[in-house]
Amino acid sequence: MRDVEELVEGEERERTGLLAGRRAVVTGAGQGIGLAIARELSRHGAVVALADLDEARATTAAAALPGDSFGVGCDVTSPDDVRGAVDVVVKQWGGVDIWVNNAGVTRDASLRRMTVEDFDLVIGVHLRGTWLGVKEASAVMRDNGGGSIVNISSMSGKIGNPGQTNYSAAKAGIVGLTKAAAKELAHHGVRVNAVQPGLIKTPMTAAMSAEAFAATEATIPMKRAGEPEEVAGAVVFLASDLSSYVTGSVIEVGGGRGM
Ligand code: NAD
Repeated sequence: MRDVEELVEGEERERTGLLAGRRAVVTGAGQGIGLAIARELSRHGAVVALADLDEARATTAAAALPGDSFGVGCDVTSPDDVRGAVDVVVKQWGGVDIWVNNAGVTRDASLRRMTVEDFDLVIGVHLRGTWLGVKEASAVMRDNGGGSIVNISSMSGKIGNPGQTNYSAAKAGIVGLTKAAAKELAHHGVRVNAVQPGLIKTPMTAAMSAEAFAATEATIPMKRAGEPEEVAGAVVFLASDLSSYVTGSVIEVGGGRGM
């Protein structure tokens, strides 16, 4: 079995041609899981547009990838920005084959303390952002004969987490959106799937208290948090022809949590 340490040495790992010639977009790719997804898609041969609210971070991250990958500023809640990201990629590469809706934020609070603004923000980034990505990417893909869309949900959307009524609702909503879009787009050759990560080591979870992190880790059958690269592996599978007969599915990447 591969050692977990090996997974984080992304650049050292062997390159493959699994996704050679594929044109990919990953939202929220400036750091964390999105960055690992961009790196892994690139390692398997795709060119990647790293779209992020933080354009500078996306551009710096893209510069570390081989080939023609690039960074683009994009707020996924803005229809103009999402269409703009699609346009720039189509102009650059002639089409889009892989689109990963990964951008996300948390604003955790109890129901008593959560503000309407924090509810709307979290629903907006995850649900509106994913819907806009699916809508715009699929329009280009169906004209080009097909493609693969991967939406990043969360175990929180399956089991519900206290303090995350906004986030759990958004992440569960992404599952419904994924299935409805998969049914609508299947005959156009566009597959739509979701990944539900469990507890993954990223800047998002670094904000948790050490006690809360350890308490969650203790509930995981594999007794450890996951690495971003372990989520990226499932995305590579769904993005590639290895999953050519898979659509509307939800893959859990959580070390057995919430099964
Ligand atoms: P992160 O906070 O480390 O990174 C999120 C990225 O999204 C950042 O680069 C940020 O700039 C970008 N972003 C935020 N709002 C945006 C917007 N409006 N438009 C474009 N980009 C925006 O988070 P992460 O842990 O890497 O999480 C990535 C995805 O995985 C999220 O959808 C998150 O909900 C999901 N997820 C994470 C975990 C975990 O344990 N870390 C577990 C389950 C699901």
